[in-house]
Amino acid sequence: MAANLQNPIFTDETKAREWLEARVWPNGPVCPHCGSTDNDVTKLEGKAHRPGLYQCAACREQFTVTVKTVFERSKIPLSKWLAALFLLTASKKGVSAHQIHRSLGISYKSSWFMMHRLREALRTSGLAPMGSGGKVVESDETFIGRKKGVPKPKSGFGHKNVVLTLVERGGKARSFHVDSTRAADVVPVVRQNVAREAKFVTDEASHYWEVGRDFSRHDAVNHGLDEYARYERDADGAEYVIHTNTVEGYYSIFKRGMKGVYQHCSEKHLHRYIAEFDFRYNNRSALGVNDLMRAEEAAKGIVGKRLTYRRPHKVAQPLSH
Ligand SMILES: [Zn+2]
Repeated sequence: MAANLQNPIFTDETKAREWLEARVWPNGPVCPHCGSTDNDVTKLEGKAHRPGLYQCAACREQFTVTVKTVFERSKIPLSKWLAALFLLTASKKGVSAHQIHRSLGISYKSSWFMMHRLREALRTSGLAPMGSGGKVVESDETFIGRKKGVPKPKSGFGHKNVVLTLVERGGKARSFHVDSTRAADVVPVVRQNVAREAKFVTDEASHYWEVGRDFSRHDAVNHGLDEYARYERDADGAEYVIHTNTVEGYYSIFKRGMKGVYQHCSEKHLHRYIAEFDFRYNNRSALGVNDLMRAEEAAKGIVGKRLTYRRPHKVAQPLSH
């Protein structure tokens, strides 16, 4: 199947629906109301029913593949949803609502909603600790945008939003919008997400000193002394490189994307943009994921994440991660 916009799922509603059904229901249709499957679920055929409608014999409800997903009750054709999903997940730095509005011929307001719902689909939760089996986990923070109602201080970044990112070297990233770089805000996130047996690498920042003792080892590169990598020996004698280049590489993509594509990201939506960048990083081509596989992975994420908001100024704020 073509991993580009020539794919018929981006123009044909039936093909789009069948493609989505195969991703959301790999083992056949599941009633989103009661969870029934197999013989309890019947496809309603014929002109009397809208396409893709199913009947559940157990709870007597009807449903389609978009019920209780981020696509629910949308007037936008499914093929356009899939095109937007594909563009969002295939572009390294993201894609703006303006671009989707122009490319897919839908209103800006609709594309704005679509993009936030799609970001919700990319959000992952309930993940296992990082660094299991003694792998290396790098942690760092970056400053982005501006906090609402906080004046710019004479020095420091107190007026900016703080994003904390943990990256397992050679593996995945997890980012969080935290209140500050104080230990009180950083430590709980680190404790909750990093395995005890991990090798933990940070810069020299003091908020990592105490929590660093939780892990099999904690090493800090001293950026203040212009140190960017240090070679040491591991407990088993293997050479071990201490650096935070992996998490810094993550931030270079994140910052370029946020600056170039999402200049006007507000604080309350930051967690969704973070989820988007994490998703693309965690499904990157270096890990063997191509554009279509990435879109397929994202499509599985639409289930159970229906957003309740309708208007831009009344956006709900679910917890990140
Ligand atoms: Zn049912």
